[in-house]
Amino acid sequence: MKQVERTFIAVKPDGVERGLVGNIIRRFEHKGFKLIAMKMLNVTPEMAKAHYAEHVGKPFYERLINYIQAGPIVAMVWEGLDVIKGARVIMGSTNPNEAQVGTIRADFAQVMEYNVVHGSDSLESAEREISIYFKPEEICDKYENMSEILKERLG
Ligand code: UDP
Ligand code: MG
Repeated sequence: MKQVERTFIAVKPDGVERGLVGNIIRRFEHKGFKLIAMKMLNVTPEMAKAHYAEHVGKPFYERLINYIQAGPIVAMVWEGLDVIKGARVIMGSTNPNEAQVGTIRADFAQVMEYNVVHGSDSLESAEREISIYFKPEEICDKYENMSEILKERLG
């Protein structure tokens, strides 16, 4: 059974600088995933190290840590059925030139290092990453009042 999950998605600094935020968000919205938290921020060295702890020691680690701090990111939490995997399908493979055409990375990036978007890869990393970027009170998961209000107004 597919579960309702939450995942951490970020538009990385290259995506923000290139004006891709709206396009990226639109893809997750159109899928029907629910946006439940979002902020723009500058990633601190501490956050960068916590976020990418699993990659310590890899050849690309230093560049990755610098990249994520190179400019503001747009950090988000999305909720939905099997959203962790579903969001990664929308993002495409880590290497943009191997990603399926139509995915964010295939459409907007050329090199593995600067691939525009981040998404959690498991339940554990989703929970861990969400807690790096958001306080519990910043998660806005109850906002379906408008459909009730509209129904009352429009019949
Ligand atoms: N990365 C890189 N070289 C590599 C692998 C990864 O520069 O050989 C960068 C790339 O920006 C990637 C990030 O490190 O998005 C994290 O790598 P991971 O394997 O977790 O890929 P992702 O989960 O982002 O697809
Ligand atoms: Mg990863």
